[in-house]
Order: sequence, then C-alpha cells, then structure tokens
Amino acid sequence: MYFEDNNIVDESRQGEVLIKETKNRTAKKLYLESYGCAMNFSDSEIIASIMAKSGFQTTNTTDDADVIFLNTCAIRENAELRIWQRLRTFRTQKKQKPDLIIGVLGCMAERLKTQLLEKEKLVDIVVGPDSYRDLPNLIATAETGQKAINVLLSREETYAEISPVRLGGNGIVGFISIMRGCDNMCSFCVVPFTRGRERSRDPESIVAEACELFENGYKEITLLGQNVDSYLWFGGGPKKDLPEEITNKALAHQLPDEEQKKYTTFADLLELLARIHPDLRIRFSTSNPRDMTDAVLHVMAKHENICDYVHLPVQSGNSRILEKMNRGYTREQYMHHIESIRKIIPGCSISTDIISGFCSETEEEHQETLSMMEWVGYDYAYMFKYSERPATLAARQYKDDIPEEVKARRLQEIIDLQIKLSHQSNLKDLQKVHRVLAENVSKRSERHLSGRNSQNKVVIFPRNNYKPGDYVNVLVTDCTSATLIGNVVD
Ligand code: SAM
Repeated sequence: MYFEDNNIVDESRQGEVLIKETKNRTAKKLYLESYGCAMNFSDSEIIASIMAKSGFQTTNTTDDADVIFLNTCAIRENAELRIWQRLRTFRTQKKQKPDLIIGVLGCMAERLKTQLLEKEKLVDIVVGPDSYRDLPNLIATAETGQKAINVLLSREETYAEISPVRLGGNGIVGFISIMRGCDNMCSFCVVPFTRGRERSRDPESIVAEACELFENGYKEITLLGQNVDSYLWFGGGPKKDLPEEITNKALAHQLPDEEQKKYTTFADLLELLARIHPDLRIRFSTSNPRDMTDAVLHVMAKHENICDYVHLPVQSGNSRILEKMNRGYTREQYMHHIESIRKIIPGCSISTDIISGFCSETEEEHQETLSMMEWVGYDYAYMFKYSERPATLAARQYKDDIPEEVKARRLQEIIDLQIKLSHQSNLKDLQKVHRVLAENVSKRSERHLSGRNSQNKVVIFPRNNYKPGDYVNVLVTDCTSATLIGNVVD
C-alpha cells in the first residue's frame, strides 16, 4: 500500500538508483535517481538508453559520477520538497568536482522550468519529459559551463523506436509505455501541464517491444499510460486532433467495420499482446472510469494471460466532489463500472486511488468515500491527502479550505478501512490454489520466493527447486493484510 504523510509509508522505490551492470571502466558515468510513478521509472529506462548511445554507463554511486540526474515527480508538494532537499546534498560534491553535471528531469523540471536554475545554482540542466532526445546536446552545452534547458512539450513524441535499457529490474517483469500525456484536466492534477497532450504509441512498436522482452526471458509486462482506456492509434499525433464523434465511436467499436479497421483501440491492443504467448502475462495501469468500456473487460475475460486486475481510481465517493474534480463520472456511473467488472470477470481484483480533503469536502461527503470503499471492497488502494498544485483548475478557482488536521484525520480513516478491506479480501483467498509468477527471493527468507498471482497479490512460498521466472501453483494457507502465504502444490 502507498500511504503518504503517514508513519506506515512504504515508498521503497522513491529515489531508487537505477543501474545496469556493465564492465566498461573508461565510459563516462551517469548516476540516475528516479521518483514518482511507474511512468517515470519507465522514462528513466529511455533516458538511460539515450545516454548509453552517447557513451555513458550507469553507476550506483554519486562519488564516481560525471553526471547526476534526478528524474522527478510534481504530483504533490511533498514530491517536490523531497527533490529540493536531495539537490542540497550535492553541494559539497559540486564544490569538490566543478565539472560534475547535475540535471533535473521529468515533471518538476517541466513545471518549474528556469525557476529551477534560478533557485538552485548547482543545477546545470533542466529537461522536460518530451525532450530526452535532446540530452546529448544539453550535456554538450553544460560541458562548456553554460546552463542548458529544454522543456518543450511535443504533440508527437512517444519514443516509440527507442529500445529502453532495462534498469534495476529482476528480468521477469517489465514496463511498456503505450501512450504519453493526458487530456483529462482533472481539476486537482498537474499531469496535463507537465506531460502535455495525450498521444498514443504505434501498436507495432509496442508489440515488438513485448516480443523482445519475452524472448529475453521476461514473463510479465505492464502497459503504462495515464488513461489506458483512452488509447487510440490512428497514425500518430494528439488524440484531440480527431473529431470527438469519431474517437467516441472508434473506442466503443461503433464505426462501420471498414472504418474501425483504421483504428487500434486499447481492447484491440490487448488482444494483439495477449496472442504473443500464453506465458507472457499482461497488466495495465491506469484505467479511467471516464473512458472505460466493456470491450476491454471482454478481452480480459477471453485471455487467461491478461491478469484479473483493474486499477480504477475513484478519487472520491461523492458525486458533487467528483464533478468539482472534473472526473467525468458520478458515484452511480463508477458503481456501474464495478458491477460490469464483477459480472464480466468474476474474481477480478480491484484497486483504487483516493484523495482526502479536496476543496470544500464535507464530513458527509467523506463518509460517502468510506461507504464506496466498503461497497466495492477494494483489494488495495493508494491514498493521498489533497495537495494544491499551482496552475491547476482547483488552484485557480477553488479554496484549499480543509484544514490540514482534518485532511490527515480523514486520510487515516481511509487507510484504516483499507487495511481492514485488504485483510478481508486476502482471507477469501485462503485454501485456494493460485498460479503465481515467481519474481524474487523473499526479502525475509532466503528459503522462500515471492511472486504475484493474477490478481496482483503478493504470495510468499517455499523456494524448493523453483526460481524467479517460473509459474508455480501455490495453495494459500495464511495471510496478512498485505501478503498471501502458502505451499507449492503440483
Ligand atoms: N491518471 C490517473 C488518473 O487520473 O486516474 C492517475 C494519475 S496520478 C499520477 C496518481 C494519483 O495521484 C491520482 O490518481 C490521484 O489520486 C493522486 N493525485 C493527483 N494529483 C493530486 C493532488 N493534487 N493531491 C493529492 N493527490 C493527487
């Protein structure tokens, strides 16, 4: 679970140093730290690929780095505070080694632009999410002692043909970005400002990347996009350039057959990927209630290797707040989606994102979020306190008027309920056999492996002769609110 501003924070990936072991001792060295969402970690693999072509290899220590990159997140204020703090820790190093180049990349770079260079003098390079191809030029400029910045947002860029350098993973599960940007304009969210217009990536390049991963031993891919249900390939460029009438009909598969063939929807893409190999599991994130169609659910139900797991952020359980958030659905419409999931994919697990204390949220409206959680029975949740972000519609038009302690108390109630729901959900899995993809040796015991079942639940079981990458049938005999524990059966 991801709890923010709370004692039980599990943010193990934040600030993770991403490296790929290489032996070239003479190459220049890049130290790359990543923050934020899975999309950002996936971007880091594109950054590493572009830098490798320029003769850099990655290192896991800042001591021998020629270049330090922080790939940043701007989603909440805390994410940015953390980066300012981290930058200050490089001051002594920069004094001792003036040639050291320090770059701020990603969403915070895009949001703050030149302010970053003005506020923190040690920063040499500022690069937004659509400008990574320019990194070699920007480094060359920085090497002459000048500051370098590129924060242009693109209408086309998807980095489609760049083969990401797989960093720090286990070689079993990998991410594939299928689209970039977001057009949703949720009133609380900074993403449309930092990642630009929504554009989908060529399905051929996605399938090719998935095939390559499978050939290299990967057993699971997670397709990434801010709103995967909105994926629509029609030859490239921003989706907003097509008439809404066409996009709506194409996504709902309501165009005449000949016309429909010109478009690849998310359901079509899933179908293409599911056919690569039955042993290649497919997940995706994030689904959006605004655009989710039953067509996607039917493809999921049809293919065993598409995991029975949907991450469907609700944000609030109250229709007035949802409208204020500009989410594009009501409480009832959201519930209707959940009913469809339950009907079309029985046994599917469902997770969500929730924001506590959005502008003007009343106690009764907060209670509706709790009752929605109970009604759905979420298996898992990412829970946040509302954090006002400059330039968003909420920052411009609404007052951030819920006192900090009320936001915190409501968040705690949400967290406490989710712990109960996760535990209840795990109890239902007892005495059932689950097909688990082994991913790692368990952190707690060398003699156990950890993996996930189709529903994305972590399962711990005895190692025996199994290894990461194997599919194993596990009879679950015990559980906590976070983990299933069991024994291997044949
Ligand atoms: N694109 C997805 C969507 O809209 O459903 C998720 C995008 S965001 C990277 C992940 C989550 O961060 C959101 O679903 C939301 O719960 C949370 N979030 C975004 N902006 C926030 C803000 N200003 N304050 C608190 N949480 C926020």
